[in-house]
Amino acid sequence: MASSQIIDLLKVELPVEQGASLVLTGDVKTGLVLVDVVNGFCTVGAGNLAPKVPDKQISGMVDETLRLATAFCESKWPVFAFLDCHHPDIPEHPYPPHCIAGTDETKLVPALQWLENEPNVTLRPKDCIDGYIGSTEKDGSNVFIDWVKTNHIKAILVVGICTDICVLDFVCSALSARNHGFLTPLEDVIVYSHACATFDLPIHVAQTIEGAMAHPQELMHHIGLYMAKGRGARVVSEVSFECMKNP
Ligand SMILES: [Zn+2]
Repeated sequence: MASSQIIDLLKVELPVEQGASLVLTGDVKTGLVLVDVVNGFCTVGAGNLAPKVPDKQISGMVDETLRLATAFCESKWPVFAFLDCHHPDIPEHPYPPHCIAGTDETKLVPALQWLENEPNVTLRPKDCIDGYIGSTEKDGSNVFIDWVKTNHIKAILVVGICTDICVLDFVCSALSARNHGFLTPLEDVIVYSHACATFDLPIHVAQTIEGAMAHPQELMHHIGLYMAKGRGARVVSEVSFECMKNP
């Protein structure tokens, strides 16, 4: 059976039902969370974990992230951006060296670099997969929790890369933290499927690399969304903006 047929079958057997569209009006205080939209994962040829050739899912994710970030910044709504960033002497098994501190790999992709100068944007370098854990400071405080509370955020809209790795782990932790009472007043964790992406390592390529695990892109992206939904996230396939109407 061709892999595309397997994926179609899985989408029937493991539906995510991401028909829902999200309309943002400003009535519910919503924060945008960008997960690792950095050169090291998104820019062709930028590093060991960057795409080797142009990748439609990844470039589509960057385009949609830019659209959302632009709208959020125009409305001065809060944006939180994780930047994967590692000390050169501390590897992140099972991945090869990537996003080493001080390199361009840890920087937002060129289309999003302007976010660095926006007053409503919080940048957070992180040295582990899960951005929630990576937001913890030595004194036990947590930059992400503080951002939610300071901005009175009731919903977060999560986008970025990889759907089944850093996005999923962050979403799972945020949901547990919310249920544990750490994130009041946060209510909703929303994942926007078209602004998420993952990398592609098909089985026939993985078999040629010692120790590599196959990671078919379309399948793992779907499984990432499925797992996020199973944990309690809302998965949407469309996001639009509507100006707040005057009463
Ligand atoms: Zn990393």
